[in-house]
Amino acid sequence: ETTFSESERTAIRSPGNGMTNHSSMEINQLYELNGVQRFDDLRKIPRNLIQLKHPLGEGAFGIVYQGTLKSNSEYLPVAVKTLPGCILAESEVDFAAEAVIVCKFHHPNVVQCFGVSFDASPKYIVLELLAGGDVRTFLRRCRSAVDHLTVTTLELLDIVVDIAKGCQYLEQHHFVHRDIAARNCLLTSLTSPRAAKIADFGMARDVVRSDYYRRHSSVLLPVRWMPPEALQEGLFSTKSDIWAFGIFLWEVLSVGCSPYAGLSNQEVIHFVTNGGRLGAPSHFCPPELYDLMRKCWTSVPADRIRFSDVIQTLLGLMGVSSVAAAKVPDEMDSPLPLVQTETTLNTTN
Ligand code: ADP
Repeated sequence: ETTFSESERTAIRSPGNGMTNHSSMEINQLYELNGVQRFDDLRKIPRNLIQLKHPLGEGAFGIVYQGTLKSNSEYLPVAVKTLPGCILAESEVDFAAEAVIVCKFHHPNVVQCFGVSFDASPKYIVLELLAGGDVRTFLRRCRSAVDHLTVTTLELLDIVVDIAKGCQYLEQHHFVHRDIAARNCLLTSLTSPRAAKIADFGMARDVVRSDYYRRHSSVLLPVRWMPPEALQEGLFSTKSDIWAFGIFLWEVLSVGCSPYAGLSNQEVIHFVTNGGRLGAPSHFCPPELYDLMRKCWTSVPADRIRFSDVIQTLLGLMGVSSVAAAKVPDEMDSPLPLVQTETTLNTTN
């Protein structure tokens, strides 16, 4: 039974939503969430230290604001996720689950959580401000002549190295993200120097509730970022995060194209499970980088490259003059090209 939405996440019934299908890594993840870091351990921020300025966007629960957090005599710029007062108890648990997840991590390439303010309505999660917005919007703006934003190949590689480092950190903490994609990575700044950070833990949060506590619900799944074993069996692991990272790499090197454009979600599922893969993203993409994507997309999960090797490869390529010299075209506001569909015959799967 499959239904589709316009968004990048698709409502399909998660094929592996029975308890027995979960890997021990996922059970660990749940254990860690419930056992090691609890909501009570989160830093509580007095409401009078937080000032909201203007809206940045709309999240799954409510509006996300730019604001300040008074810390000693300083005012730190922050992003504040809000949960409106008139909301289902279920959403409150989800919102708290997101705070627990994001506050666990401390890494330069994962968004930092300063704490929560839950003792007044609306409830707040206070995050470091990532003023450059999400990577997908940034890339789409670089394509357009209107914005006068430009980016070099080395700057694109800085972004992907940052996110690979964030992913490696999550892997070291046995955390499966499940939704690595350009829309979920944010930038500190639109202009260089900038850092990229993993900033949306919505899928991991939904898993904690949907798969474990609401076993028969449909969850929205990012099918275009999912490997065959996730599409077919609902198996998510660091290996599925590596696959999604490969799609992210493709999104960045195509400067914001949509993966498998021209195929419906159902066609993507059929294509990928039958060995089909995205083609090289654009004429300026150095072949070495397309090779790296293909190593993220092997059918057999155990054969996929590891994040540590991805980082090493990327850092090595940044020193290769032909890669560094690849020029991102100045203007790409022509219609986005359809993807080259290439079917890889793979008899092992
Ligand atoms: P949700 O996961 O609840 O759907 P998101 O994380 O997608 O919410 O946030 C919604 C919007 O708020 C996005 O447009 C994003 O750009 C913006 N946003 C979220 N967190 C930050 C942050 N730390 N800094 C700047 N903007 C942010």
